[in-house]
Amino acid sequence: MERRLALISEHASPLAVVGGVDAGGQNIAVAELAQHLARLGYSIDIFTRREDGILPEIVHWRPGIRVVQVKAGPARVLPKEEILPLMGEFTENVIGFSRREGHPYLLIHAHFFMSALVAAEVKKVLGIPFIVTFHALGKVRRMSQGDGDRFPPERLSIEERVIREADQVIALCPQDREDLIALYEADPARITVIPNGFDPNEIYRIRKETARRLLGLDPYEFIILQLGRMVPRKGIDNVVQAVRVLDDAGLKARLLVVGGESDSPDPAATPEIARLQRLAASEGIAGQVTFVGRRDRRQLRYYYGASDVFVTTPWYEPFGITPLEAMACGVPVVGSAVGGIKHTVVDGETGFLVPPKDPVALAEKLEMLLRRPEIGRMMGARGLERVHAEFTWEKVACLTSGLYEQIGLPQTLPLEIEKSLRLELRWSA
Ligand code: UDP
Repeated sequence: MERRLALISEHASPLAVVGGVDAGGQNIAVAELAQHLARLGYSIDIFTRREDGILPEIVHWRPGIRVVQVKAGPARVLPKEEILPLMGEFTENVIGFSRREGHPYLLIHAHFFMSALVAAEVKKVLGIPFIVTFHALGKVRRMSQGDGDRFPPERLSIEERVIREADQVIALCPQDREDLIALYEADPARITVIPNGFDPNEIYRIRKETARRLLGLDPYEFIILQLGRMVPRKGIDNVVQAVRVLDDAGLKARLLVVGGESDSPDPAATPEIARLQRLAASEGIAGQVTFVGRRDRRQLRYYYGASDVFVTTPWYEPFGITPLEAMACGVPVVGSAVGGIKHTVVDGETGFLVPPKDPVALAEKLEMLLRRPEIGRMMGARGLERVHAEFTWEKVACLTSGLYEQIGLPQTLPLEIEKSLRLELRWSA
């Protein structure tokens, strides 16, 4: 019996290149979840907004997975803050597609609030149940970004509506669950915590010497890695300032910054690189900061493997896949004690938690790891164990599938009953 699911991810396509402003964790999460669900036997259509006129409407992306590029507004990349008005057209086209296919979907899993809005509208018309993973919440973003948040204010009421109408909400970490309850009055019984993950076939430990040789890096320097999308809320300026604090104490470290809009570090294409270069120069440590540019997923393990410590100090972080990736390479993590990071990183065990926007607190932990490398090695080993036990995509997909089976049509139903249920759904449409 075919178990077909619709995943909706309006701005974050699995086909996009990640590392820039608008393509990161959500693209990876949707792509990995879909692939691991397909291995469990689901057929999956991922609906995403068409961003170019080159690829066909339906891309047969991986075995059992199609990416359906939905027409909604111009076929070009638009900032995610600008696409809410296009969701009406997106919804109509998803419903039209589903009708043409004979209404095959047992369940919709929506990613982000705009996809959830589409799913809620589709549920109203076709009766298909839906689950939502927000990946980020508007009220949390507004609290930390204030006027810097360019999403339309309707985001908040849309989130409130879909939280009421969703069959289940997936929180990525305990903090996400608390925020859903405290800020949105979500029903605790309809929230399930399922984290993001990493893929052990892609991200694994490499000997430090080997990684440094392959990347042409100094074998003896203390290397701090920062890797991810380059936007101010990631707090990379805080890491640059911490390197200056170390430098003031006579401790030399190299900061590698991976990410950006292009493969070579281009301050014109990535304004955050320009800002950080100015900062490093004004702090007098420009020579200790290397901007690498965006890197392909197959190259990431070498950057993680080459580093002595991975640092991520965002102002807030709904989940944060990069700490998992660092731990999967046996590298200790120093991260801000916010959101998902305070769940994935165990303070004093797999790394350290520090307050965001506090370069002195960060430098203190870096100094400890610099002076006592055996602590970093021990934490790296513990992190490796932790991520393999808790955070593989395989495990995440199994947990998610368990939830689907609770909500959608049970997989054990005989085909005839399922067919008649589908007919009923069709009539109710
Ligand atoms: N990433 C990448 N290449 C880069 C920079 C980032 O593949 O040059 C990936 C990174 O490995 C991670 C994702 O982008 O898998 C970022 O996800 P995370 O959850 O850490 O942050 P988000 O993008 O959701 O803010």
